[in-house]
Amino acid sequence: MKNIQDIRQDFPILHQEIQGKPLIYFDNAATSQKPRSVIDSLNTYYTGMNANVHRGIHTLAERSTQAFEDTRELVRHFLNAQSIEEVIYTKGTTESLNLVASSYGQIAVNEGDEVIISTMEHHSNIVPWQLLCERKKAILKVIPINDKGELLFEEFEKLISERTKIVSVVHVSNTLGTINPVKKIIDTAHQFGAITVIDGAQATPHVEIDVQDLNADFYAFSGHKVYGPTGIGILYGKKKLLEQMPPYMGGGEMIKEVTFEKTTYNDLPYKFEAGTPNIGDAVALKNAIEFVLEIGRENIANHEQELLEYATQKLQEIPNLRIIGEANHKASVVSFVVDGVHSMDIGMMLDANGIAVRTGNHCTMPLMARFGIEGTVRASFAIYNTTEEIDRFVSELQRIIQVM
Ligand code: PLP
Repeated sequence: MKNIQDIRQDFPILHQEIQGKPLIYFDNAATSQKPRSVIDSLNTYYTGMNANVHRGIHTLAERSTQAFEDTRELVRHFLNAQSIEEVIYTKGTTESLNLVASSYGQIAVNEGDEVIISTMEHHSNIVPWQLLCERKKAILKVIPINDKGELLFEEFEKLISERTKIVSVVHVSNTLGTINPVKKIIDTAHQFGAITVIDGAQATPHVEIDVQDLNADFYAFSGHKVYGPTGIGILYGKKKLLEQMPPYMGGGEMIKEVTFEKTTYNDLPYKFEAGTPNIGDAVALKNAIEFVLEIGRENIANHEQELLEYATQKLQEIPNLRIIGEANHKASVVSFVVDGVHSMDIGMMLDANGIAVRTGNHCTMPLMARFGIEGTVRASFAIYNTTEEIDRFVSELQRIIQVM
């Protein structure tokens, strides 16, 4: 693996001062920064090959279609999906989850049926299921968690039954960092005939994903959290389920033939890709995935685990600071609260020193309610972060707490 200083050189944005101090970017769970290859790819696409995909017979259209489909093939490999028919482009995790809730929910969920999610879900994996349950008069059930922020598996086993049609859980919690035992959850769901949806937004940058080994029915992620552009994401779905599902949106691309009497739909994956897609960002997603594959997800995870352990240990030494999320199995996210100091104030004062963290409820309001807090300060680390940055962050934090 390249050393971290060399990797940092690939990220132009990191080399700047914010408020007169060198930038420390610890908001990677919200979105990661982009390597030069991704930025260059966007430039190359728009300066050399921009054209609409799948429709043209001219050279630019062929080039852009090829590049667009090359990314799909790499995503297939990245997730170990069986075929490209199972890889659907979306705007991101949110759209992927809404697509499943709306389309699969339409055919599989009826009055009195049940959908199970967990307490640590992002709003993107709560609200689509609430909308579905409201529409279908179905029941939404929630797996509780313990004080460390781990799912209570035995409670899940009590909740699930033949009435459960869908189990949708987050692979890695964006607020707590908890890595959930999704394979075990998927196995249990299947024993009851339920299908599984995995929100992989936070897992994909650090965890090796093999959808066939997991046996996940659906898996969603966002390009921008995995060093790629915003506005592009993926829904993986098992072909046999996608084939049964009605289209999510209607329009160009997703049709075979249209008459005023009847429309027939395009083959997979295009049936779910109505309208002109986000071609430029899809093309650049390939460079992002290549970046991750080149370093290796295991190397990324190892480096981030070191940062996580280092930061956790340092933060634990600060009096009146409480870490929220102490699961045994965690990704590189540390959320915390400090007695008597509002998380927003900490975030603002860190920013005044060039340090970017996230504060607030992190789109997990029910999780905040579970811990009886309004929000946390969250530092989340990526491959380009260093222990020296953590030292500066912790010392600024100590100073802020003293001042406050
Ligand atoms: N799920 C989790 C766990 C997330 O962390 C996020 C984003 O923060 C999402 C879903 C939504 O992702 P996006 O906003 O890219 O659609």
